[in-house]
Amino acid sequence: MTDIKTVAERDRSSVLHPFTQLKDFATGKIGDPTIVTDGRGVSIKDAEGRSYIDGFAGLYCVNVGYGRTEVAEAIARQAYKLAYYHTYAAHTTEELATLSDRLVRMAPGAPSKVFYGLSGSDANETQAKLVWYYNNLRGQPRRKKIISRERGYHGCSVISGSMTGMSFYHDHMDLPFPGILHTGSPHHYWGAEPGETEDSFSRRRAAELEQLILREGPETIGAFIAEPVLGTGGITPPPTGYWREIQTVLRRYDVLLIADEVICGFGRTGADFGSILYGMEPDLVTVAKGLTSGYMPLSAAIVGQRVYNVMEEAADRVGAFSHGYTYSGHPIAAAAANAVLDIFEKEELTNRAKTVGSHFQKRLKERFAQLEIVGEVRGVGLLGAIEFVADRQTKRRFDPQIKVGARISKAARDRGLIARAMPHGDILGFAPPLIVSEPEIDEMIDLAYRATKQVM
Ligand code: PLP
Repeated sequence: MTDIKTVAERDRSSVLHPFTQLKDFATGKIGDPTIVTDGRGVSIKDAEGRSYIDGFAGLYCVNVGYGRTEVAEAIARQAYKLAYYHTYAAHTTEELATLSDRLVRMAPGAPSKVFYGLSGSDANETQAKLVWYYNNLRGQPRRKKIISRERGYHGCSVISGSMTGMSFYHDHMDLPFPGILHTGSPHHYWGAEPGETEDSFSRRRAAELEQLILREGPETIGAFIAEPVLGTGGITPPPTGYWREIQTVLRRYDVLLIADEVICGFGRTGADFGSILYGMEPDLVTVAKGLTSGYMPLSAAIVGQRVYNVMEEAADRVGAFSHGYTYSGHPIAAAAANAVLDIFEKEELTNRAKTVGSHFQKRLKERFAQLEIVGEVRGVGLLGAIEFVADRQTKRRFDPQIKVGARISKAARDRGLIARAMPHGDILGFAPPLIVSEPEIDEMIDLAYRATKQVM
């Protein structure tokens, strides 16, 4: 049995928690830490024995569900056989070679090679270095700026945190780093002019991107990074025509496209990758989360042929590719990823996300779209969001002090459902494990509905 008091005291006195109000935590104003002890299927348990449906798969991670013996055994087998070896200077393991071959076969765009990290943030940091490296090697050393979008989320390290397009991730941290620029978000609900269709809004966003490129000078723009479906900034699928219009601009000015598939990758949207769903042809692809379903930390920067060919051709001139981490391609993480991808294929999780996902989208709309405080219900596959507003007609927001989204999320949690209060606005987000069943979806939506009614 977990000694709850001791764990809480030790934690409070020694852990620096991400995304936590430090004073409120230190003084106990926001209560004790939740001690998570167990996970099975789509549910987790805390140390007090309460069970929750995890409607957010941790942080959009645990696609294959909790407690998968196949993955745990693959991890244990690899730990006994060979716990660690590095991948510097052309060392490898069978698990890593197998995983890389699989990723190159399945990734969108024209993938050539896979570089491994441990988090989405470090993989996007690598992508920035690859953009700079590629442009230096091909003789265009001024092409260094990277454009991302307002409300995009790409991580929290220096460059990835700068790519993230929400100011509260920058404040007091001296971000964004020079050379990382932001253009308008694809959020039709908030960004469109009255009466503006999705198609014309998409064209306007693409025109704004083009103006930014021209203003900065096309010869200085290296890449555009974006999530196929904007995630942490509000779970917002792109408006119709968006990716066609944006890619036309990128091609016109020879700007690389980095698809951040950290959330969308591996079935979440009902396609293997968000890029495939929306017809994106990325030069560089970032994956993490679903790659191991969170069983081990692992991310990858998948390098397309266009970029890789330049790197290989320049190698005699510039020497070794001098970038890498002690844990790049860690064999236990690779073993976990292979076991997760086996489940992903065997259980056809992309198809599941599509079929169970369409039930989810339908039920979410049926239950919430007509509520007085709901401005928009949106999503794709097993990714969904409800946006709460004080006035549906005028789209007036709630006073941020009231924290409506956070209160509904807390009421849901008290009823045994984890649905995330998204950090930007009053939004309740859902991203359940892809193994979720239709009855579990119904229960999840019912709990969220009752929580909303309680707070309304
Ligand atoms: N990119 C996207 C789209 C994400 O959603 C996240 C995390 O939520 C990241 C990058 C950063 O990943 P990590 O938290 O593993 O650094």
